[in-house]
Amino acid sequence: MTVHTAHGYWLAEAGAVEPAPAQEGEESADVVIIGGGYTGLWTAWQLRERGASVVLLESGLCGHGPSGRNGGFCETLWTQLPSLEERFGRARALKLCRESAESVHSIGRWCSEQGVDAWFTPGGYVMASTAPAHDAILDEIVDASPPDRVRALSAGEVRARCDSPRFRRGLLVADDATVQPARLALGLRDRLRDVIRERSRVTALRASPGGVTVETANGRVHAGAAVLAMNAATRGVPPLRHRLSVTSSHIVLTEPVPDVLGQLGWSGGECITDARTFVHYFRTTRDGRIAFGWGGGRLAAGARLGGRIEVDPEVATETHAHLVEMFPQLEGRAITHAWGGPIDVSPSHLPQIGTLDDVPVHYAFGFTGNGVGPCHLAGRALAALASGRSTDLAFADPEPVRVPGEPLAFAGGMLVRRAFLRKERLEERGERVDLVTRAVTAAPRALGIHVAR
Ligand SMILES: Cc1cc2nc3c(=O)[nH]c(=O)nc-3n(C[C@H](O)[C@H](O)[C@H](O)COP(=O)(O)OP(=O)(O)OC[C@H]3O[C@@H](n4cnc5c(N)ncnc54)[C@H](O)[C@@H]3O)c2cc1C
Repeated sequence: MTVHTAHGYWLAEAGAVEPAPAQEGEESADVVIIGGGYTGLWTAWQLRERGASVVLLESGLCGHGPSGRNGGFCETLWTQLPSLEERFGRARALKLCRESAESVHSIGRWCSEQGVDAWFTPGGYVMASTAPAHDAILDEIVDASPPDRVRALSAGEVRARCDSPRFRRGLLVADDATVQPARLALGLRDRLRDVIRERSRVTALRASPGGVTVETANGRVHAGAAVLAMNAATRGVPPLRHRLSVTSSHIVLTEPVPDVLGQLGWSGGECITDARTFVHYFRTTRDGRIAFGWGGGRLAAGARLGGRIEVDPEVATETHAHLVEMFPQLEGRAITHAWGGPIDVSPSHLPQIGTLDDVPVHYAFGFTGNGVGPCHLAGRALAALASGRSTDLAFADPEPVRVPGEPLAFAGGMLVRRAFLRKERLEERGERVDLVTRAVTAAPRALGIHVAR
């Protein structure tokens, strides 16, 4: 039987936690952080290291959102280099990618220094092409990247790492790693417990003399600056709501299948994706399971993040079918767990890290399914901004594209989603993509919105 919940396997494996006290009464701090996923937690960590006082407000339990439920791909920004270069020029783009690699390495170092066993495994990331139409995506990334950071893999090389019959060729990003995501999030939570207030949803934020005041159900926090680290809930923040849309992703987890991993020759700990727009992503676990996710979940309507965004049996069933297509040896093997969650998609697919106009309120969102490594980078940038220092680690689209409001965003997005699913199916079968499907999948581009990576 499959255990299908919102919170999923990783949090269950990491063990239950006692809630931290809720925010009450009047409090003051140098910085108030809203949101206790990786972004908020790393920002708090960096600020505390610098001697700043911090209060972190989390509406539920820290690390129980996407930060504790993701695929555990701890990636750099190297595969985003072409996109970064287009917006910020070569030198800055390379600098951001190198800093993102430094962040991945820092996460590994932090785990060993702090004694947090988050299964940090520096096995690299493989992107594998599964259709001729996807080969060019890999080529563009390899051509743009320094060869010591990203290199092409032939069909033989990629299949020596993991022998799926679907893989045509690949690329390897050696800086990337995997983690047990909930163990990382809860390890951070544990080490920051004194600054954390849980079950403390922020209901209002306003400028006040000396900075900002933030309200919860039972009190207020006055601070010199605020950090919004709310992920998909940023869609509910008026000055930012047009800068992201929210989709969803689901993961299925197999029973331990060491025999299949042996047949696949998949022993290097690599995390792997294909190059589809609605990406498949997969990795192994310490006890020989395969976690297999799919980025093809439904869109959220506005900032509504519950329901099928978190638990969608239909999408989980489809994800399982895709897993068996990728690894036919898994036919008939048990799926023990399934879960899902929201994805904060920025129109450029790049994180957006910056400051609101006229108020000391700093934000990071738009990780677009690649936040485990980049949230650490964002934490470094946000800590600098909230301390009043400038930093070249903060970056946002120079001319942000406006995501349409509801109901257009949801209705249009679902239409485009259906067209992409059809296009990718046809491409993988080597069949011609019809004109209407091509036109619908090209439409977002005309609005400046990247649906494809
Ligand atoms: C199924 C799935 C698989 C994924 N796989 C990967 C992967 O393999 N690799 C990768 O890099 N990324 C992956 N991601 C994305 C990654 O999980 C996110 O980018 C990352 O966790 C974002 O961290 P965050 O701190 O910004 O947000 P979150 O972890 O969502 O934390 C935000 C927190 O803010 C809180 N909050 C919201 N509103 C309020 C409020 N008003 N008051 C107080 N608190 C509030 C929420 O409760 C939440 O805990 C995946 C995501 C999903 C859903």
